[in-house]
Amino acid sequence: MPKIKKLAARKRIAMVAHDNRKADLIKWAASNKDQLRQHELIATGTTGRLLEEMLEIPVKRVLSGPLGGDQQLGAMIATGEIDIMIFFWDPMEAQPHDSDVKALLRLVVAWNIPMACDRATADFIMTSPYMSSEYEAAVPDYTDYLSRGIHT
Ligand code: PGA
Repeated sequence: MPKIKKLAARKRIAMVAHDNRKADLIKWAASNKDQLRQHELIATGTTGRLLEEMLEIPVKRVLSGPLGGDQQLGAMIATGEIDIMIFFWDPMEAQPHDSDVKALLRLVVAWNIPMACDRATADFIMTSPYMSSEYEAAVPDYTDYLSRGIHT
């Protein structure tokens, strides 16, 4: 039997933007303000502060990305505390914490989390009917993988 996780209508949305993409993310957030305010937002430090100012709602803030915030979000994904990821990463410049960025992107895929890395995909996600209703998300089953080795 495939494992299912029921997402509530009110989604837990994680948001991160690298410095060169922060303006893009905040502009996108401004044009989706009413809708974003209906969800629970979690963000890395600076991104979260900018979102709070723009949206005028509390945003749960983890550490800044380079200081461990990406890893905190990755841990929350692995423990089922995040439903959607909006991650405007910078395609033009390396980051000091590129290893953390890669780890976060990997966990998003490993746990079947819808993710937008650009405005167009973010628009498609926000206009999905699943954003205002419950959704049964498949939880990947790694039992076979775990039974192959020494992992538990
Ligand atoms: P910040 O972290 O929101 O604190 O800037 C994001 C990042 O740069 O990874």
